[in-house]
Amino acid sequence: MRGAYYFRVGAHFSLDRRALLGGMAATGGLGLAGCTAPGANGVALSNLPTSPRINLAPLRASMERVFDISVCLRPFRPAGPRLDTEQVGDTLVVHNYGHGGSGWSLSWGSSAIAARKALAGSPASVAVIGCGPLGMTSAILAQSSGAKVTIYARESMPDVPSIRATGSFTPDSRIALADQVDAGFPDLWEQMARTSLKRFGSLLGLAGDPVRWIDRYLVSDGPPAGPRQRGPDELHFAAYFSRLRDVFPRAETLPSGATPFGEAVVRRESNIMFNLASYTHTLLTAFRGAGGRVERREFHVPGDLTALPEKVVINCTGLGAKALFGDQTLVPVRGQIAWLIPQREFDYGVNYRGVNVVPRTDGICVQAVSGGDMRGYGDESLAPNRQEAEESVAALAALYARFGQV
Ligand SMILES: Cc1cc2nc3c(=O)[nH]c(=O)nc-3n(C[C@H](O)[C@H](O)[C@H](O)COP(=O)(O)OP(=O)(O)OC[C@H]3O[C@@H](n4cnc5c(N)ncnc54)[C@H](O)[C@@H]3O)c2cc1C
Repeated sequence: MRGAYYFRVGAHFSLDRRALLGGMAATGGLGLAGCTAPGANGVALSNLPTSPRINLAPLRASMERVFDISVCLRPFRPAGPRLDTEQVGDTLVVHNYGHGGSGWSLSWGSSAIAARKALAGSPASVAVIGCGPLGMTSAILAQSSGAKVTIYARESMPDVPSIRATGSFTPDSRIALADQVDAGFPDLWEQMARTSLKRFGSLLGLAGDPVRWIDRYLVSDGPPAGPRQRGPDELHFAAYFSRLRDVFPRAETLPSGATPFGEAVVRRESNIMFNLASYTHTLLTAFRGAGGRVERREFHVPGDLTALPEKVVINCTGLGAKALFGDQTLVPVRGQIAWLIPQREFDYGVNYRGVNVVPRTDGICVQAVSGGDMRGYGDESLAPNRQEAEESVAALAALYARFGQV
């Protein structure tokens, strides 16, 4: 059962405490002090807890349950995503790449801008290069305006490495450097984020939960550290999430003992997540169902695009644009995830000692995130680091070893 809390009110009680006490007052019932007399159903009233407890399933954190360690690269541009157009021979190319750690989150908003530019001349057909989040959403949006759309890609889903991204709504993760963007970029970012959120809203509640809300528990052994201070050598990444405060409530600190995390300090927040296996399947099924085609093809130089029958092309090649279009501003940012066998009952996110956990239906994502946005910056190594995975899983195992012991 997802997103539900169970209030434990005595071992076999189904009423909540306030309703019970209100009922007793109305009937001139029992006094409270030292009350151990059985209630109407025979449960001793002294068993009632003083505060509701949030019931959470434990995570089975062990390296034996890790079935994969995946690595992929974020396509980061200091100036933010590229969304301009260029003419290559007789072909109009609309760029839509360079979304850093925010590609899944900003895709609908960014692709709406790209699709508008591509369709300005009302072409009958449009080519989309790339089948990642930007390619799929560009293709669907262009198609919904009446164009015949073909996706050409070196890899299509589910073989695109970014299907192994975390799958959280992180719209300003490594999206740009604060001092490298145009003055209008923060507003453009907000427009992209809100357009995307609207679209995600229409994908909530579907079979397979392609998009859903989850609670995240931010667990710390002492007082939570404040916002991370940037080191002297660290780049100043743009941060705009506070512009969406009307959608996402602030984290709340929970009363001590309210969760099975024992004496730890626990804050709770809510976020949107994507079950990327189900989400990409939903998108591609819709695209193909409306007549869209996906063709495997690799392009090596911009001139290759002019061989396509379509004369309007949306370029969604992510990091591939570095080689294809010679964009030397693109920087790879490495990210690694260890995947635990899914547990249906484990339906919440956790952050503990620099390790982030997201409960995807195709695997529980365990990711080391300490070091902030500089982590993996400029690193294009695709080799899995097993020690990193072991350390993350060990931190979680230690947390869950004391889980439920209050
Ligand atoms: C570890 C990790 C976790 C992440 N977590 C999140 C998250 O939680 N939320 C979020 O919003 N973002 C997240 N991201 C970022 C996100 O995955 C990227 O921003 C996103 O994948 C970029 O999408 P894209 O469509 O531009 O590129 P990609 O997904 O990389 O797709 C590129 C496509 O272009 C094709 N292509 C490339 N070059 C060529 C060529 N020359 N010819 C033909 N085809 C080509 C590829 O085959 C592929 O189909 C994460 C990234 C990493 C690494």
